[in-house]
Amino acid sequence: MTGVIVAGAGIAGAAAAGLLARRGLDVLVVDRDVGPGPAAAESLAPGALRVFAELGLSDRVREAGWRRNPGSTQYLGPGRPPWRSIFGGVPGHGYHVDRTDLRELLRRRAVELGARFRTAEVAGPLCDEAGAVTGVRLADGSAVEARAVVDATGVSRAVADGDGVSRAADSVLRARLGGVRIADAADRDHCVVAPVAGTATWCWLTPLAEDHLEIGRLERGAPTGAAPADWRACLRGTELDGLIEGTPVVLLPTVAERWTYPAPAAGGPGWAAAGDAAGVVEPVLSATSTLALLGAQAVAAAVAADALPTYTERYQRLLDVQGRYADIAFAGPDLPTVDAATRLLELTNSPATGGAVAHLREAMEGLRPLIDVAYPDGPVNAYLN
Ligand SMILES: Cc1cc2nc3c(=O)[nH]c(=O)nc-3n(C[C@H](O)[C@H](O)[C@H](O)COP(=O)(O)OP(=O)(O)OC[C@H]3O[C@@H](n4cnc5c(N)ncnc54)[C@H](O)[C@@H]3O)c2cc1C
Repeated sequence: MTGVIVAGAGIAGAAAAGLLARRGLDVLVVDRDVGPGPAAAESLAPGALRVFAELGLSDRVREAGWRRNPGSTQYLGPGRPPWRSIFGGVPGHGYHVDRTDLRELLRRRAVELGARFRTAEVAGPLCDEAGAVTGVRLADGSAVEARAVVDATGVSRAVADGDGVSRAADSVLRARLGGVRIADAADRDHCVVAPVAGTATWCWLTPLAEDHLEIGRLERGAPTGAAPADWRACLRGTELDGLIEGTPVVLLPTVAERWTYPAPAAGGPGWAAAGDAAGVVEPVLSATSTLALLGAQAVAAAVAADALPTYTERYQRLLDVQGRYADIAFAGPDLPTVDAATRLLELTNSPATGGAVAHLREAMEGLRPLIDVAYPDGPVNAYLN
């Protein structure tokens, strides 16, 4: 019997595999490995650096030349000044990084630490009579038993929900642009996010390099389908359009995909989910890839300590609170709502708390309340311990 099976070797799975192997556990990673997937920029918050440190990757990350991410800028609607969050603490920055580079670094490290990799498609969980997960079934008809299974198969949720999950009706468009940069000096290194006035649509700019941006648009409602010929048009109606300087050259193919979805559970007997497989409340506002790394760290600790239910319960509460936050952020342009969203952003992003995701991580460890403020529907006070 294998010690732990990690299904999926994206950011969450590769990080979890390395962290489990580092703790001396026997780890088998199973990924169907269908290629690099769409190029995508990730803006990592400083919390991710602690995961790199535990993996022994701090030096390699410093040498990788990734662009530093000192904070984020969020526009909250017309007529309101942008809210700039500067990451505090030490080192006070995360990174803007290409998802493929990050995943490859994590995979290589997991192998160095002793995790084994196998290319295969996971068809679903192997369960005992009581419904506890005891391994995985593979698409070739074979099965592998394990003491614990980590589902890190992203939106597939291959262990958690073999039949697929229902995703909210939303759509994502994005492209890589060359020859352009963010014009405003205060925002030049930030991931900048803005709503399209009067809608539940958000756009973002991620500065991967000095003259190299990813632009994106997340829409609520029916998927848009075809990508536009004019990418700048995606940003119209937002403050971001005026922030781009230079003539854009589309560097990479456009991508259209559906994303946000609820997950009914982040785990159960014998298994836990990490990364997107544990649920995606909202990919633009919730620092999801940093959460994938921090979730991997938490799940590795929980597997090693035989404490999967604690991880599952905390993670689910974290997503519930994020969901309430996303509800307010998307609720519309009325001022009390925007004020409430601003207060929540300030709380989770202030220099005093060391950045949103570092705060989330400490909340997951039970060191502090996740949110403790008043907003129009009453106080939100969510403890994750
Ligand atoms: C529009 C958009 C913008 C985003 N922007 C940001 C951002 O700026 N900052 C940020 O922090 N995050 C961002 N994210 C989120 C981030 O990209 C994801 O959270 C992250 O990539 C999730 O990693 P993961 O390892 O959980 O899943 P994935 O990367 O999806 O990995 C899943 C792995 O499982 C494998 N797999 C799937 N099914 C099976 C199966 N049946 N059998 C075997 N293997 C399987 C796949 O091959 C893959 O390797 C964004 C997401 C979107 C959609």
